[in-house]
Amino acid sequence: MKLKILWMYHDLMDLYGDKGNIEVLRRRAEKRGIECVVDTCTLDEKKEIQDYDLFFLGGGADREQQLIFRDLLGRRDGIAAAMDSGTAFLLICGGYQLFGQYYKDQDGNVLESLGFFDYYTVASDRDHRCIGNIALEAAIDGDTFMMVGFENHGGQTMNVQTPLGRVLSGHGNMYRSEFEGFLNDQVVATYMHGPLLPKNPAVADKILMRALKRNYGEVQLAKLDDTLEDKAREVMLKRLKVI
Ligand code: GLN
Repeated sequence: MKLKILWMYHDLMDLYGDKGNIEVLRRRAEKRGIECVVDTCTLDEKKEIQDYDLFFLGGGADREQQLIFRDLLGRRDGIAAAMDSGTAFLLICGGYQLFGQYYKDQDGNVLESLGFFDYYTVASDRDHRCIGNIALEAAIDGDTFMMVGFENHGGQTMNVQTPLGRVLSGHGNMYRSEFEGFLNDQVVATYMHGPLLPKNPAVADKILMRALKRNYGEVQLAKLDDTLEDKAREVMLKRLKVI
């Protein structure tokens, strides 16, 4: 089996170790004997987005979002074609925001976004920034997980019809929100950095299965030894008094 990953704006949209998500996807695929190709794509670079099984876009501060959003809008048709062809998407923070209707940043600039989903994001005042460790309960493709991560965003994301999970500790889509992220059959979008996947390997496997589905249908992945990852997650869940 072979997996093709597109890592968008790898040089601009990468906060708090988001690139670790790519390493985890690659390693967990290769340990199962799946050949993994990771291509990067930055401003003005031509790429056939619909040729990829997995599209990854990390987080970025307002400045980086400002730098990339026009280039991203220019790729809307390719991204829509990828969605139609069954590509899986993992979007973190600033990347998550740019798939909604718009992002109004800290200086009041309105960044038109891709508009695939109904949600929109408005930057909070500085007293209501959402910063810190976060824990969620999330159900993805039939399994329920406790997830941990780190969030740091001013953006308050509203009108999310299908969130990724319920907040157990932390803020989520808005300051002291009940819900976090966005989820549909192909897209996992979240404010969780930290990075997300090294701390939540079961979520990494769900995303790998979604990406493999495009060419191979429902795939079962061999179990890996996640003892250390599970212990690390447990430490954080205990610290947050969630368990
Ligand atoms: N600039 C955005 C915000 O503050 C995104 C930040 C991020 O990607 N961590 O909401």
